[in-house]
Amino acid sequence: MEDRNFTRNSLLTPQNVYPIFQKLRIYYNVCKVIFAGTMEKKVRVRFAPSPTGGLHLGGVRTVLYNYLFARQHKGDFILRIEDTDQNRYVEGAEEYIQECLKWCGLEPDESPLHGGPYAPYRQSERKEMYREYAEQLVKQGNAYYAFDTPEELEAMRDKFRTEENPSPQYNHSTREKMRSSLTLNDDEVSRLLGEGTPHVIRIKMPENETLSFTDMIRGEVSFNSSLSDDKVLLKGDGMPTYHLAVVVDDYAMKITHAFRGEEWLPSAPVHLLLWKYLGWLEDMPQWAHLPLILKPDGHGKLSKRDGDRLGFPVFAMNWKDSKTAELTQGFRELGFLPEAFINMLAVLGWNDGTEQELYSRDELIERFSLDHVHKGGAKFNYEKAKWFNHEWIKKLPADKWQMTVRKDFEQKGVTIEDEEKFSKVLELVKDRCTLLTDFWEQASFFFKSPETIEVAAVKPKWNEDKAMFFDILAEKLTVQEEWTAANIELLFKETAAEKGIKMGELQLPFRIMLVGGKFGPTVFDIAALIGKTETIGRIRKGLTNIG
Ligand code: GLU
Repeated sequence: MEDRNFTRNSLLTPQNVYPIFQKLRIYYNVCKVIFAGTMEKKVRVRFAPSPTGGLHLGGVRTVLYNYLFARQHKGDFILRIEDTDQNRYVEGAEEYIQECLKWCGLEPDESPLHGGPYAPYRQSERKEMYREYAEQLVKQGNAYYAFDTPEELEAMRDKFRTEENPSPQYNHSTREKMRSSLTLNDDEVSRLLGEGTPHVIRIKMPENETLSFTDMIRGEVSFNSSLSDDKVLLKGDGMPTYHLAVVVDDYAMKITHAFRGEEWLPSAPVHLLLWKYLGWLEDMPQWAHLPLILKPDGHGKLSKRDGDRLGFPVFAMNWKDSKTAELTQGFRELGFLPEAFINMLAVLGWNDGTEQELYSRDELIERFSLDHVHKGGAKFNYEKAKWFNHEWIKKLPADKWQMTVRKDFEQKGVTIEDEEKFSKVLELVKDRCTLLTDFWEQASFFFKSPETIEVAAVKPKWNEDKAMFFDILAEKLTVQEEWTAANIELLFKETAAEKGIKMGELQLPFRIMLVGGKFGPTVFDIAALIGKTETIGRIRKGLTNIG
């Protein structure tokens, strides 16, 4: 009896329980280390554009880095439409973005179109969620109601404007003088709210605090909190601003890494505070602020206007502004291949440390790494962009892009009926094409007789003998049975020898007759492909025009 009591009591003593607890803790920590890889959160990244217009190539590069990172880590890539600014919303812009991503082959796993477990993916459809968090921040003292009218805001700016401070901010130094829940008493605030007085909710930025975070590209970044104004979090129309919405949604959608343009770096301290005040700091995504894409001269960010001014595209695809009806040309319509476009963008700000320049999407998924993303901006070079396209036209099998060329031809009035001939022609001229749209100039004469021919190119050296040569050649070709480039060349050579004219003297006029200008592949290949009747017809027509 005594023994049993002794056993029971001794088991329950803290001295006995503590070592067991200690051991369990050690086991747990060991397991944590061993299974660290598998216990990590699933990578989830997002591209979060505002549907305000054409998609800038910088935006596509952000998509690309997001996509590569997600694929590399077997994670999810989300497209979230940040459409809370109703004034900047442009009809059709969201569909356009989705279409651009599709063209680039960078389709998201979750989006308004594809759906997903964290739907809706349009912020305007998540409106109700945001107020709750804004109110929570007010209750906690991290945000406040501000009732200032536009006139009062203007008066504040007029009052505090000095030479050193031309646009005074709503911040720690001015907020005490404004009409807000910081300066009005509780009854007054309740009355104003009760009466539905227009108001916004602003973050209360702390004074002189150092706010730091580790950026995946820039390393440790620090800000002084006093430099940021008291940003509006919830607007008068009940919509959140970008600052509140981006934090709430990155949290709600379990985003683990956030890639965005460097222009968002100044907003980071506000976001950091929101993550902290909402109690979510542990779940804050790791940020990567991507370097800017610069103008060709390296002075400032590349804008659509630079493209217009210097004659190159800046948007991924054609963009027609529904308000102004202005059409801006895109890379796609100008004849870029998506493979070339994303390759060019990938290396605009990243390289894998080798000399390699051409990468397929799969290679990029394998090789991309954030530690090789540059900190400084990358100069855009249109000639280099075209070089990538030229390389990709040569590299890819024609069936990857021939449909685009075919459509271009059809739009310009040439319907392709002979598939075999079309394939041969594309193969023959592809080395001469930098853009897919170049095929029209380089290959349309295979399918339709040139409208005009460059007579001036042959006229000065033209003579009776040459005219006679082509007359005889046409005759001989009429009876030529086996229509091959080699046979045509042989006949051409024999006739030239008979007439005592050098081959070199005759090839240019032949080219002008068949092609219309001084370009294109070997003339005999051209003649073989366009066929007997067409070749003879063009010689006859050429003779009339030149002679
Ligand atoms: N909506 C922002 C934009 O238009 C997104 C910035 C971010 O990714 O946080 O670029």
